[in-house]
Amino acid sequence: MESKVVEKFLDKPYPISGLGISSSYPEPYYDYLALLHLLLIKKGMKKGFCIPVAVKYGVKICKELKLAFKKSNGTCGIVVGENNSLSKETTSEILKKGEGKWTGDIICGYDDDFIKEYFEKHCDHTLIGKLEEYPDCCVNQFVNNFWGDYESIAEVVGDRPENVDAIRERNRDSSQSEKIFERHKKILLEYAQGRKKFPYAMHQACTECLSNGNNSPTGKLNSAWKKVCEEEFPELNKEILKGAKREYDDKMWWNQSYQEYMIGFAEEMKKNNY
Ligand SMILES: [Zn+2]
Repeated sequence: MESKVVEKFLDKPYPISGLGISSSYPEPYYDYLALLHLLLIKKGMKKGFCIPVAVKYGVKICKELKLAFKKSNGTCGIVVGENNSLSKETTSEILKKGEGKWTGDIICGYDDDFIKEYFEKHCDHTLIGKLEEYPDCCVNQFVNNFWGDYESIAEVVGDRPENVDAIRERNRDSSQSEKIFERHKKILLEYAQGRKKFPYAMHQACTECLSNGNNSPTGKLNSAWKKVCEEEFPELNKEILKGAKREYDDKMWWNQSYQEYMIGFAEEMKKNNY
């Protein structure tokens, strides 16, 4: 049954992953990867998976694979990073503005009990990490990287609660300071390495996992998933490896100096008449 679904999907892939759905850069690699992770649930090698509400065909693929699923109906928020350097006031303002409802995401899993456990929870990066069984080391680093964006932009605009809108708007803008650029460069180059070393993992591997390769928590998962993919879904395997290579090449764009980056940034601004 599964190989029939895979065959059909490879013939005519459609969006089932929250990654790579931007209209300017559609990357089917993540859809193939999401399919593998759903197949891993079928095989009992993974408990669950979350397909974001913005993904068009989440329900369709769950039905095709006869997976248990339910739409989320809880709350969501942001996790504060370790060694938070921001003031108490700015921190609580960021948390307040980051709160919201968590509805419509598709939680799928190997049985109804698993889904019941998650669909009404408070969703944040830690919960998603738990749901999809990412290694704790990688979840922690992801949380710290994410929070670090707020910390470094606060150094530019000022660590005050009234600046939280600016902090939230500009937290991903590498042109704001060399320090921000260098942080993003490190994260994105690690991301590139992750695609190369662990092409079957959905999550971003942490620095530790990257340097310990196959013996790391991510490395062990990657090896187990690689085996299933190679042996049971060879055609899907080819697509995943091709896509991982494309993602590696794409993210290696960050391998440049701040000066080079800013020259490119200025040219881009001129082109767009800013
Ligand atoms: Zn890790």
